[in-house]
Amino acid sequence: MIKTAKKIDAAAYSQLCNQHTMKHKAVFIDRDGVINSDEGHYYIYRVNDFVINPGIREGLKMLSDAGFMLVVVTNQGGVAKGIYTLDDVNAVHTHLQNELSQCGIQLSAIKVCPHHESVAPCSCRKPSPQMILEAINELEIDPNQSYLIGDSKRDIEAGEAAGLKRCFKIDANASIMDACQQIVNDRP
Ligand SMILES: [Mg+2]
Ligand SMILES: [Zn+2]
Repeated sequence: MIKTAKKIDAAAYSQLCNQHTMKHKAVFIDRDGVINSDEGHYYIYRVNDFVINPGIREGLKMLSDAGFMLVVVTNQGGVAKGIYTLDDVNAVHTHLQNELSQCGIQLSAIKVCPHHESVAPCSCRKPSPQMILEAINELEIDPNQSYLIGDSKRDIEAGEAAGLKRCFKIDANASIMDACQQIVNDRP
């Protein structure tokens, strides 16, 4: 017996589709002191000073293999202060992406705030959640299935303000492996 399909209008159909859109899960990661060592340098803007911390490749691979998008979120106030340029920042990030891609790790986005309140206020510098919220929007990320790993209070505040499921604060330059294990093992 053939049933007649119920007629639904375009608006209702679109809403139905949106409800079933699979959003991505992601891990937001701070840069200096988490991905790379910040020991001995307050600002890191030379490729030669950029040392990837132990456990980063393994940890990020674990997250990536578990289906998480990886988004780096970093304050780079030295740009506003004129200590280095956005080109320097981009060169360091190209280097980082090359290093990670050799291990099969891809970053979905790197969000940079180049401002500093001593020069001019902005709305993106952490602890503002703005960079995280932008990535959530642009990459169709579900904050309720997403996490953050940072080494400072302002990282955690930004992640919490963005509504992420859980934010992990590690010691500066400590391994992220424990946080990664917890994220991968976490259940809805
Ligand atoms: Mg940091
Ligand atoms: Zn900013």
